[in-house]
Amino acid sequence: MSEIELSLVIPVFNEEENLPELIRRTDTVCKQLNTSVEVILVDDGSSDRSMEMITDIAKKNPLFVGVILTSNFGQHAAVTAGMQTACGKYVITLDADLQNPPEEIPKLLEKLREGYDVVGSIRENRQDTFFRKIASKSVNLMVRKLCNGKTMTDYGCMLRGYSRTVVDAMLLCKENGKFIPMLAMTYARRTAEVYVKHAERAAGESKYSVMKLIALQYDLLTGTSTFPLRLLTFFGFAIAVFGILFGLIVFIISQIDKAWGADGTFALFAIVIILMGGQFAAMGLLGEYIGKIHINSRARPQFFIESIINQHKDN
Ligand code: UDP
Ligand code: MG
Repeated sequence: MSEIELSLVIPVFNEEENLPELIRRTDTVCKQLNTSVEVILVDDGSSDRSMEMITDIAKKNPLFVGVILTSNFGQHAAVTAGMQTACGKYVITLDADLQNPPEEIPKLLEKLREGYDVVGSIRENRQDTFFRKIASKSVNLMVRKLCNGKTMTDYGCMLRGYSRTVVDAMLLCKENGKFIPMLAMTYARRTAEVYVKHAERAAGESKYSVMKLIALQYDLLTGTSTFPLRLLTFFGFAIAVFGILFGLIVFIISQIDKAWGADGTFALFAIVIILMGGQFAAMGLLGEYIGKIHINSRARPQFFIESIINQHKDN
């Protein structure tokens, strides 16, 4: 392991207007940290001058490392690429648009040094649009449900810190469409949260449109959980049970009122409802198998050993 203590990972997608200030401010903060730091700027296929600027600073200033991706793979893929390049004992991620002030980094580093595996951040008076906040609230709610037990207040803020163990574990997860803050929770033992300031986007537009946010949330749900499939099975069974009850009622009425002429029609209804429910349940069952394929194809490590005490086996 190298002696770098902290790696900063910053995904950059068309941020030419923000880069000069970002570089200036992170440079200042890193100098004040008085430890060995590297700043990894990942160009996520920008079409503006971001790539040239990153290349330039990485050549000039040894603090900066430039990782250039061939095209736009998305924020979380870019962060993963940065983590793969990082060699620090700790990794802190932040956004390039200066919504997360680099000046908050020491707070996170302090927590990481205390031994926390994941350090999240809560945004004080958040500067985002109304819709962005709603979207974020629902993501937070869903993630909390999906991460049974381990929770954090705010998953949306990318100013987060990770221990080497958690980073290594996450790098072993080869699936596409990772949501890093949530994935980290799977492997974290001790987590902490700190309050951080939040600023408006310094320049440029948010890279997330309403449609992209909805797609992301749908991806998150289907990518991490097979719960919707199970819902289908339950739904099917509920319909089938309803059909059976309906059939029973029809039968009882027909026994009580022998002159009731409509029992044949209603019995047909009951049969159709039962079959429909059965079909849904069968679809859900098929889905369960597909879900198993899905989970296995992610090939996530089932566990991750942090350390072994008094090991006898040679490595
Ligand atoms: N980003 C990226 N690839 C993308 C979209 C965004 O690397 O496809 C980066 C972007 O440059 C920024 C961070 O991810 O550093 C967060 O993006 P943005 O500020 O647009 O998101 P928001 O703050 O609206 O959630
Ligand atoms: Mg932003």
